[in-house]
Amino acid sequence: MPNIFDRDLWSKNISKIDWYLYLGEDFKRIENTVKELPRQEREEIVDEIYDYVGKSLSEGILQVSETGPNWDDERKTIDTLIVHHSSRANGLTNSRLNVMHLLRLYVPFFTNPSQENREIKGRAVWSGHFVDQEQVFYGYHWLVKQDGSIERLLDDKYIGWHAGNWDINARSVGICLDDDLELKSPNSAMLGSLAKLIKKHYSQIEKGRILGHREVHNSIICPGNEFIPAWREQLLNLI
Ligand SMILES: [Zn+2]
Repeated sequence: MPNIFDRDLWSKNISKIDWYLYLGEDFKRIENTVKELPRQEREEIVDEIYDYVGKSLSEGILQVSETGPNWDDERKTIDTLIVHHSSRANGLTNSRLNVMHLLRLYVPFFTNPSQENREIKGRAVWSGHFVDQEQVFYGYHWLVKQDGSIERLLDDKYIGWHAGNWDINARSVGICLDDDLELKSPNSAMLGSLAKLIKKHYSQIEKGRILGHREVHNSIICPGNEFIPAWREQLLNLI
């Protein structure tokens, strides 16, 4: 099989301010091509891209903007919690997740911004979200690992671009369970940690506003087929 990831094309363009105008389409092509491949092969190919872009980002070859619009001034009172899964049986590192969301959430927006944001097209990417002075592109606020450990990704003052719906993003937090839950429920360590996290930080959110991603976004599986019939109820009982 020819190389799906064309490293020459990427290295020729990744240092341009508007790299995504040259590479965004190619990333889409790669994602469509690997869809047909067995899981392991698929993940190896996209991980190669995530690692490449992650390295370019950490070395400053891929340039991010130091200023940009303050989209977080549209943050509303948090009254909704959206549950996601990573669809990765082996879990994701933070760096890969950061790049994945840069490519899947921010690149399409910078390539085709809304009318009121049209001036950002062609500019260096920007999220306005920082962790330890580093700009990050995570869409989620929290990541729950398979051993039950929890990582804070975005501060709640930031709007996470996780739900595919700006109004929901503005009023919600996004929590991702780092496993492939398409056909199964999360293990008890994950479910217990998720319940504890909700009780500790989001006791103000009504149970009816704890939703799976698929409930606010049509035609997606996230957080898996078992959420509504099986583990949502279990989760709510633990809270
Ligand atoms: Zn999701």
